[in-house]
Amino acid sequence: MFKYKKQHQVSNSFILGIDADDTLWENEALFYEIQDRFFELMSHWSEPSETNGALLENEKTSIPVYGYGVTSFVRSMVLTAIEISKGEIETKDITKIFSWGDDLINAPIDLLPGVEEALKDLHDSYSLLLITKGDVLHQRAKVEKSGLSDFFWNIEVVGEKDTDIYKMLLDRYGINPEKFVMIGNSIISDVLPVLSIGAKAIHVPHHTTWELEIPDSKELENVDFPVVENLGGVKEILLGWNK
Ligand SMILES: [Mg+2]
Repeated sequence: MFKYKKQHQVSNSFILGIDADDTLWENEALFYEIQDRFFELMSHWSEPSETNGALLENEKTSIPVYGYGVTSFVRSMVLTAIEISKGEIETKDITKIFSWGDDLINAPIDLLPGVEEALKDLHDSYSLLLITKGDVLHQRAKVEKSGLSDFFWNIEVVGEKDTDIYKMLLDRYGINPEKFVMIGNSIISDVLPVLSIGAKAIHVPHHTTWELEIPDSKELENVDFPVVENLGGVKEILLGWNK
């Protein structure tokens, strides 16, 4: 059972929102691995690029209803398999797709380099709020498995990371937007909506970015935010802002 670790300390310093997937640990890479297995399975009927296109379309319609995460992904693969094979896909292959979902759920947590040290350091000076989107049970299980949960004052698993959700979270915790900094790997989820409510954001890019998380260049006009190579670079930016 998940327990809240500690009370939020009211202070004048920033409150940090920290993303989890691909900011603290590898995530997309696991999905890409399964996607490759899926492309291979479907290669009897279609080329990887065609399978990928159909899968993305199904993900776009699944996410608003089923949310981000493994449930949506597995549903999208099954639908895509039925469509592309025109119903020829066999039950044993559908079963295989479901087992890939289990593989994702049970995958070990692979922390990104330097994350634990960086969190330890940030935790000494700031209140850390983990903000992640996806399946509630899976996301919470990953936080517990990661061994990082003690660094966080609270864990928020949300359905979407948009302006309304960030406003709601800041309201709920009584956080002044000027004192809030979101840190994460996705410009669309961790940076742009946060800047639009008058808070700050620090981008920590990851080596993989899901197609649905890539902003178009128009969205990047007139916005400015620091980019750091890894979580270890965040402290310096914060100290610069505090001056
Ligand atoms: Mg992320």
